[in-house]
Amino acid sequence: MTRLDCDLAILGSGFGGTLLAIIARTLGYSVALLERGTHPRFAIGESSTPLADFKLAAIADRFGLDWLRPFAKYGTWKANYPHLTCGLKRGFSFFRHDLGKAFTPTAHNTNALLVAASPDDAIADTHWFRAEFDAHLVNRAIAEGVPYLDRLEIHSIRHSDRGWELEGIRPDGAASIHAGFLVDATGNGQALSQPLGLESVDPSCLRARSRAVYSHFVGVARWHDVLQETAGPAATAEHMFPCDAAALHQIIDGGWMWVLRFENGVTSAGFSLDPETHPIRPDETPEAEWKRLLRTYPSLARQFTEAEPVRPFVRTGRLQRRLTQAAGPNWALLPHSAGFLDAWLSPGIAQTLFAVNRLGRLLAEDWRSPTREQRLAGYGRAVLRELAWVDEITGTCFACFDRFPVMATVTMLYFAAAMFCEERERTGQAGPDEAFLLADHPGYREMADRLFRQALTVDASDSDRFMAAARHGFEPYNLCGLCDPDRRNMYPFVSTLPASCR
Ligand SMILES: Cc1cc2nc3c(=O)[nH]c(=O)nc-3n(C[C@H](O)[C@H](O)[C@H](O)COP(=O)(O)OP(=O)(O)OC[C@H]3O[C@@H](n4cnc5c(N)ncnc54)[C@H](O)[C@@H]3O)c2cc1C
Repeated sequence: MTRLDCDLAILGSGFGGTLLAIIARTLGYSVALLERGTHPRFAIGESSTPLADFKLAAIADRFGLDWLRPFAKYGTWKANYPHLTCGLKRGFSFFRHDLGKAFTPTAHNTNALLVAASPDDAIADTHWFRAEFDAHLVNRAIAEGVPYLDRLEIHSIRHSDRGWELEGIRPDGAASIHAGFLVDATGNGQALSQPLGLESVDPSCLRARSRAVYSHFVGVARWHDVLQETAGPAATAEHMFPCDAAALHQIIDGGWMWVLRFENGVTSAGFSLDPETHPIRPDETPEAEWKRLLRTYPSLARQFTEAEPVRPFVRTGRLQRRLTQAAGPNWALLPHSAGFLDAWLSPGIAQTLFAVNRLGRLLAEDWRSPTREQRLAGYGRAVLRELAWVDEITGTCFACFDRFPVMATVTMLYFAAAMFCEERERTGQAGPDEAFLLADHPGYREMADRLFRQALTVDASDSDRFMAAARHGFEPYNLCGLCDPDRRNMYPFVSTLPASCR
């Protein structure tokens, strides 16, 4: 029988739970990290963003985790951890495909959009090869002295005035854990929602609607090469960064495909599909569905001609979920446990790091004080507010897939907020507890809400006017010249800081 008695038990050893365990341990708390599976293991959620990187660096600085800081930029990751696989991410790229037709670039990029997130490779974002990254963090946690129990199936979670009693079973016998505080970092929220009776938001109230089919592949052609084959060098002449060194979004009718390239030859790719436009066919395997979708979009088929999956396909049901509470007096959920929307625009890693930073600061500043409960309630509200905000952005983008220029403008409400927050980080103006993507900024949210409602009905032929309205609406936040028709959907990196200070 394994027995542990600790201040803090963390269920789930993804990067979120593991980082929090390391922080708690560094601050002198006794902590247990509990995992159902084993590392290394496949995990989805691979594409970071500048805000994720700023938060990772802030966590490293605040809690003295010098070894963590290099992961915040592509250049320092490669220099310090060349054995851990990542991918280069210079920004976001989007291409709109028409059913049954090869993708053909248009003169004014009315079916393409590139938004740079960094000026060069050295300070670029990364795709995290989660199997290696998460395993590395867990090994760090163990080296820091965090008790780690893997292959642990928890079968009983009891909550009392004394805290939490967890009972589980491992291959070598039973395990019993007592903890004063419990964090659900399982990425599904089921562990804590059952004993606490937490309710879910009615799924019909969530705007985004998608299910996913995905895997890891080798042999995926570069989209840049497919474009050049199809339309010659002019097809990529305006790209400010290689469109594959990005979170590549390939948009189809009622869905989109993410394509994230790692430097070990593996590419993560998946379709996110509207379940009504693309219902699961009961007699079709995920692999057969994947092949059928590729066949209907010839340029995607071309990109995947030589591709082979290197692991079984995953096919999910509807992805969107959100609980109605994310923290209580002696428990907290990380964002991926409290809810999820979609991989669209890669918000998950950043949201998780914002939350880990908040909980870490709470552990450092307020844990034994009477204001802890109040701060935890604030933490829970922030997590849910940020998930709701991402749902609004994602759901509105999805509703505009049939009108690419309108959708491009809707994404600008994400990019304007992201770049505004990034510039505050870069210039040292951001407070340690700022909300993700201006989620707590009523002025920005109201303006976005107005534009989102317009977007649902605006005709593609009126997209120039809609873009002008958006540009006017977010003028005070538009630090990077977004929604400028002269840019023709190609937005380079812009910062008010000189290059040496970025
Ligand atoms: C299809 C899809 C695509 C995504 N793409 C992106 C993206 O491109 N960019 C991005 O930023 N985010 C993305 N996300 C979100 C991202 O996956 C999450 O934000 C991120 O993984 C959260 O990390 P975590 O450590 O909190 O949880 P997870 O990574 O989910 O890890 C949870 C851990 O808990 C363990 N566990 C589960 N149940 C139990 C249990 N009962 N007891 C003990 N252990 C348990 C699991 O084995 C796992 O190791 C995507 C999510 C999905 C579903």
